[in-house]
Amino acid sequence: MIYNFNSGPSVLPKEVFEEASKAILNFNNTGLSILEIGHRTPLFQAVLDEAIALSKELMQLDDQHEVLFLHGGASTQFFQIPMNLLNENEVAAYTDTGVFATKAIKEAAGFGHVEVVYDGKPSNFFELSGNIQVPKTSKYLHLTSNNTIEGTQWHDFSQFFNTGVPLVCDMSSDILSRVVNFNKFDLIYAGAQKNIGAAGVNMVIVNKNILGKVDRKIPSMMDYRQHIENGSMLNTPPVFAIYVCMLTLRWLKNKGGIPAIEKINEEKAALMYNTIDSLPLFKGSVVKEDRSKMNATFTIDDKALEASFLDICKQNGMVGVKGHRLAGGFRVSMYNAMPLEGVIAITDLMKEFAQKHG
Ligand SMILES: *Cc1c(COP(=O)(O)O)cnc(C)c1O
Repeated sequence: MIYNFNSGPSVLPKEVFEEASKAILNFNNTGLSILEIGHRTPLFQAVLDEAIALSKELMQLDDQHEVLFLHGGASTQFFQIPMNLLNENEVAAYTDTGVFATKAIKEAAGFGHVEVVYDGKPSNFFELSGNIQVPKTSKYLHLTSNNTIEGTQWHDFSQFFNTGVPLVCDMSSDILSRVVNFNKFDLIYAGAQKNIGAAGVNMVIVNKNILGKVDRKIPSMMDYRQHIENGSMLNTPPVFAIYVCMLTLRWLKNKGGIPAIEKINEEKAALMYNTIDSLPLFKGSVVKEDRSKMNATFTIDDKALEASFLDICKQNGMVGVKGHRLAGGFRVSMYNAMPLEGVIAITDLMKEFAQKHG
């Protein structure tokens, strides 16, 4: 039995892998592969329509919010967002909460003024602070809901909901993992390879009312409005990646939707962090109140023991436990598709290891 704790691309439901592999050989009994069907056929249109409908249903989106499936990873959104929303002489507020947030800031600075309203660097991004002041003149406020590399997560968005400034959020690593009032956000984006599907596509949810307010000429492929008008079909979309998203969304709906998966995610995270806290050998990297329910980061002080724990994980079929090179230690990613059994297995291994070496 292999448990994949990689941070992304990451584990997807087994049912999705099975269905997707069937579709590569024979999609919906057409005798054609999903890889060869035309993107403008009714066959694929049905896939895209279902993916959009399921997204709207699962997140309970209102009519002002459009769901797009666009090329590129979340990193493309780092510049596509300011390109569409920020004039050169205007200000956007950014929270610098981790490696990906820093990258988003760097890209936005090429399009207008960036005001960093929260700087997490002094804590090495291992905590998120409370009260953040957002200048009323900001075109938007940019958040990263879950900081994948460091293992922090905003657990309460309420302070960001009433600033009077449009809210933009990188939800790459925790979208669809917990109940959130998605309509309070004006733009949400997520690279699919963590919690939604296969690499190669972004889910972008945008409130139409914030678009069309910049002066610059936007290349067609970068223009959200053109993608909306063309139903994510301005050119050949990433057909297979969207198909895998649709299957994962279907799986999530069958599981009982976001409230049901959130319960399981809470259970997994509680088990993981209770284990870390009960074993003095392991040290959680993040202050307790900001710990991510998706990516748990922790260390062992003794580097030799760290290497030895990684070996033991590997021997026991647990892959992807090594921390990001910038954060060190370990990172256990517990996305929607990671079953509770996987977290039971790795926490059992941690307890055994601590007993031997603690
Ligand atoms: C993985 C990740 C990204 C980068 O995604 P790409 O698809 O590789 O561009 C950005 N933001 C967050 C929060 C991520 O987890």
